[in-house]
Amino acid sequence: MTVLVINSGSSSLKYAVVKPDTGEFLADGIIEQIGSAQMPDHDAALRTAYDALADQGLHLDTLGLVAVGHRVVHGGRTFYRPTLIDDGLIGKLEELSPLAPLHNPPAILGIEVARKLLPDLPHVAVFDTAFFHNLPDAAATYAIDRAAAERWDIRRYGFHGTSHQYVSQQAAAFLDSSYESLNQIVLHLGNGASASAIAGGRPVDTSMGMTPMEGLVMGTRSGDIDPGIILFLRRTAGMDVDDIDTMLNRESGVRGLGGENDFRKLRACIESGDENARLAYDVYIHRLRKYVGAYLAVLGRTDVISFTAGVGENDAAVRRDALAGLTALGIEIDETLNTSSSREARRISTPDSAVTVLVVPTNEELAIAQACADMV
Ligand code: ADP
Repeated sequence: MTVLVINSGSSSLKYAVVKPDTGEFLADGIIEQIGSAQMPDHDAALRTAYDALADQGLHLDTLGLVAVGHRVVHGGRTFYRPTLIDDGLIGKLEELSPLAPLHNPPAILGIEVARKLLPDLPHVAVFDTAFFHNLPDAAATYAIDRAAAERWDIRRYGFHGTSHQYVSQQAAAFLDSSYESLNQIVLHLGNGASASAIAGGRPVDTSMGMTPMEGLVMGTRSGDIDPGIILFLRRTAGMDVDDIDTMLNRESGVRGLGGENDFRKLRACIESGDENARLAYDVYIHRLRKYVGAYLAVLGRTDVISFTAGVGENDAAVRRDALAGLTALGIEIDETLNTSSSREARRISTPDSAVTVLVVPTNEELAIAQACADMV
């Protein structure tokens, strides 16, 4: 039994052929630069993926595929369970596109081309917002005019949910504890970055909001800013909405401050004495520490903090700096464990640390494949 997982973004299409029961990946890859001369559209991208799989001897019609799983960023208020895709669902996803204008339209394109290419298989949408659909009202509600919020479905939805759920479950399994017994903080630090607080298996807060722009400083996104800045940029600086959108989504975060969004390059700049790169890093770490502190307070008692995704899994200095000097709060990192490298889930806190700190590799494709397999 295998599942084809598709994560279709505006300029890239990631795919993986996964055996959900063993976790084995038969193949995975990414097709980039969609919209360029070489790769005009998502249709061409999926055909290229199809050919790449065939070159590896993997023919989708003889692989025992049971479903195609699609990552969909925004499920709005309606969708949180993995959902079988039909024409009706595509219409509803299109209605949700204004909530996630950068993310949902390319996912819909990916779904449409995949359904054409593999019409006889069930296609399943798995939503990035799903895990957080039941946040407590106090965490999900913005303190803005209630009627406007209701009219436009403005609330905290949260994103990276598949990863936060997978990582927190893996952390419980690693510790041989029941999921319901643990209070956890998950720090998903990739190009996009988000934090979550999970009390006894239920998410009680998360840093991304109505859109994936809120919260932590990210590779190219600002995370939290004073909403007044947006008004100022519009009114006084004369920027239009699209300029502001581009600035906050693509030209901010560590790249906006330090010139690089890849932490390996940012580190090299810092080591060569680049003050801007240093400031970018300091702002990133300061925000991360603020969220850790906030979630320690939200949870009251925290058992586990897990780092995951590209930066969280690989950058020992980020982990060290984010949690340095918190012994009084029960958090103590063992620097030898922290700097040892491994692809597996592992503990990096000292035996005396009241809070267990882990590095847990995320695997959103596997989680999506398992959700699809459960469904079909
Ligand atoms: P996304 O899925 O959001 O694109 P990833 O979780 O793959 O992001 O994370 C990508 C980021 O991880 C890169 O931009 C880079 O900053 C960081 N990264 C990857 N490998 C390393 C490494 N060895 N050391 C430090 N940072 C790394």
